[in-house]
Amino acid sequence: MSSADPLDELQLQMALQLLQQAGRELPQDAEPGSVRWLQSVVDTLCDLSSRDPLTGLANRRQFESTLAREVDRVARSGEPALVLLADIDLFKQVNDTHGHSAGDLVIKSVAAALQHCVRPMDTVARFGGEEFVIILPNCAPAFGYAVAERIRAHVEQQVVHVAPGVDVRATVSIGGAFAPQWVRSSPLIWVERADRQLYRAKSEGRNRACLEHAAVYQVSAEEKSMLFGSTPLQDSE
Ligand code: GH3
Ligand code: MG
Ligand code: MG
Repeated sequence: MSSADPLDELQLQMALQLLQQAGRELPQDAEPGSVRWLQSVVDTLCDLSSRDPLTGLANRRQFESTLAREVDRVARSGEPALVLLADIDLFKQVNDTHGHSAGDLVIKSVAAALQHCVRPMDTVARFGGEEFVIILPNCAPAFGYAVAERIRAHVEQQVVHVAPGVDVRATVSIGGAFAPQWVRSSPLIWVERADRQLYRAKSEGRNRACLEHAAVYQVSAEEKSMLFGSTPLQDSE
């Protein structure tokens, strides 16, 4: 093999260092430098860049691209789909009482609970701090209500051992909204609708799931403009 460009060598070393720091291993049976080995480096880097390091869930970037794909799919197929936002209740108190590392353990445990309650086809992502988002494709309303309640109950039952003899319990509030079927809605509007339901769950006392009624949702003017191919800006001109 001809001598490699020193800059390429350096970039490869940096990539390998990154994988090592993240505790990611490459296949033992691939010869270093071979095409298969390089492909596994690229694949592992891609996977790393799409995950949240604390919980191992999809990160926000991955969530956003999955949601955009789901919006397209719903508009094409008309299948029902649900977005759930879950936020840990009074989480600041956990940090204040038990410390930040204990808080991190609670976040990890809630993340595992969410993943446990959904189907392999669903995407669970860490949206930010102590907030998570779940995309449930092909999700009939009855299943949506059941899964939100299952998540709420599962988190409530969990006990997190944060230090010897110290157990913490957490609850989550959940807000959900179904995608408008056969309409090319915007991902942002969809998440905002779920967020309004999350706000309702918090204000009604926390540790509860509030979902927008699937049939009640009206297509907004902005969504109609997407459907008919003109923007609100064009309309106002
Ligand atoms: P609410 O029920 O209204 O959601 O109350 P809350 O206390 O959960 O909400 P608030 O937004 O006041 O507090 C969220 C806290 O989450 C504040 C922030 O310090 C903490 N936080 C954000 N990210 C992390 C993290 O990665 N690890 C830990 N331990 N704490 C985090
Ligand atoms: Mg919170
Ligand atoms: Mg929050």
